[in-house]
Amino acid sequence: MSSFDKAVKELSANIRLLSDDDVLRKYRSDALREFRGFRRTFNVARLAVVFPKDAYEVVHVVKTANKFRVPVVPVGGLTGLMGGAMPVTDCIIVDMKPMNRVLHVSEEDRLVSCEAGITIDELDKRLAAHGLMTGHDPWTRKYATVGGCIAANGMGYTAAGYGSIRRQVLGLEVVLPTGEVLRTRDVEDSSTGPSLTQLFIGSEGTLGIITKATMRVYPLPEKRTLAGYRFEGFEKGFRALLKFYTMNLIPSALEYGEVFDAPSDPEQDYESELFVMFEGMEEVVDVKTKIADVLCRGSGGERVDESRVMDFWQHRHDIADFYVENVGRNGLWHDVFFDFIHVSLPATKVLDYRRLSAQVLKKHQLLVVDRGIWKQPENFSIAYLRQKGLQPRKDLSEFLTAFDELVESVQGLGGSMEYCHGVGIKMAKHMSKELGQAGLEVLRRIKSALDPNNIMNPGKLLPV
Ligand SMILES: Cc1cc2nc3c(=O)[nH]c(=O)nc-3n(C[C@H](O)[C@H](O)[C@H](O)COP(=O)(O)OP(=O)(O)OC[C@H]3O[C@@H](n4cnc5c(N)ncnc54)[C@H](O)[C@@H]3O)c2cc1C
Repeated sequence: MSSFDKAVKELSANIRLLSDDDVLRKYRSDALREFRGFRRTFNVARLAVVFPKDAYEVVHVVKTANKFRVPVVPVGGLTGLMGGAMPVTDCIIVDMKPMNRVLHVSEEDRLVSCEAGITIDELDKRLAAHGLMTGHDPWTRKYATVGGCIAANGMGYTAAGYGSIRRQVLGLEVVLPTGEVLRTRDVEDSSTGPSLTQLFIGSEGTLGIITKATMRVYPLPEKRTLAGYRFEGFEKGFRALLKFYTMNLIPSALEYGEVFDAPSDPEQDYESELFVMFEGMEEVVDVKTKIADVLCRGSGGERVDESRVMDFWQHRHDIADFYVENVGRNGLWHDVFFDFIHVSLPATKVLDYRRLSAQVLKKHQLLVVDRGIWKQPENFSIAYLRQKGLQPRKDLSEFLTAFDELVESVQGLGGSMEYCHGVGIKMAKHMSKELGQAGLEVLRRIKSALDPNNIMNPGKLLPV
């Protein structure tokens, strides 16, 4: 009997476990798909999925897997974009969604404790009954779980005001690869050595399974204002939003991007739109909104129609619904290669990166469909595509080379290759440049100290 079979046999005695092929199909992929140039080169013959009800069951699964040296992959909503939740070898998938209880809410402590499998949307609904909310609003809020968001160090629309999820997490409960349980303290400030809580944020399930999180929560705002401004070119609006930050006028949400009617030439300049939101106490919001208005108009911005602004806000999660509803269908983006990159770099280098990245895209005959700033001037994103032509191999090779060059350009400018979706499989090969040799070695040593048998989500985050 193989070690996989032995582990599955031992687990099936007292835990809900599936190994039916049809059911398992959905666990073979997350949101890293073929249209992004991804080619599956690994062979996964056997998968089993477990649905733990509580942390004790997670401990049992992990201890059993460790005993038989069978890899485990924790998964939440499977919306991760980098292949972090994708099995790359025969393994046991730990689907955390049944662990979706809210354990404790305190208005005075401004915190919530919950299990890791609850979605952000559900958590926010439960908090609303207490007049509270999370500060996390990703496109995928209906599907993404608290554990998945923490494991990827995700970021949402309101990150301008509340930070990426790293800033919101106070304490964690984590089942380590050896089956021990680590519980960190639910406090924001602690001067007792490096933060063990932070170690697991962004670790993409490679260091342990997050079973519980305690997070900072915020009062539902008394007032929210949202305004839009159109600038005649990218640089003009960018300079306006830089002023927000140099005078410490921090919005609750900020999105700034070029307006494309169709896939467009990356080297041209386009009219650009800024959406800026303030929320909180009425008087404070009114003052900030007024200052922002003076600032934008003084920098050449023209007010965007209110209906367009509301449309942006109300439909901001639609792409995630479209994606989830259509991802299984073959027709989704079958005639193009389509990908995106979300980089972070010093604000003074953003315009340089925009220019350099446009040269890369142009060289490889790629068109830009989305380009701009999210949360703060340092975060720059590009979405681009290439029509598939008569030479699919050449198309694919140019498309993949462009991505590598976009990564190398931002690293060359001192920036980071990704600001909110993690590394997964897709970006792992760039990690030695990203962290430097010494940094990579630190990460490798942490991994092998915590996971001596390399059972916890192997093949992710670190280059193989
Ligand atoms: C259309 C679309 C839009 C998106 N928009 C955003 C956005 O606005 N902001 C954003 O940040 N991201 C966005 N994403 C990416 C994705 O939604 C996030 O990365 C999200 O945080 C993943 O959560 P999940 O529950 O789906 O995790 P999964 O995809 O299931 O897993 C992601 C990673 O976390 C690990 N993991 C999952 N649960 C646990 C756990 N309990 N313990 C330890 N590790 C765990 C997995 O092993 C994997 O490495 C988008 C994705 C799509 C498809």
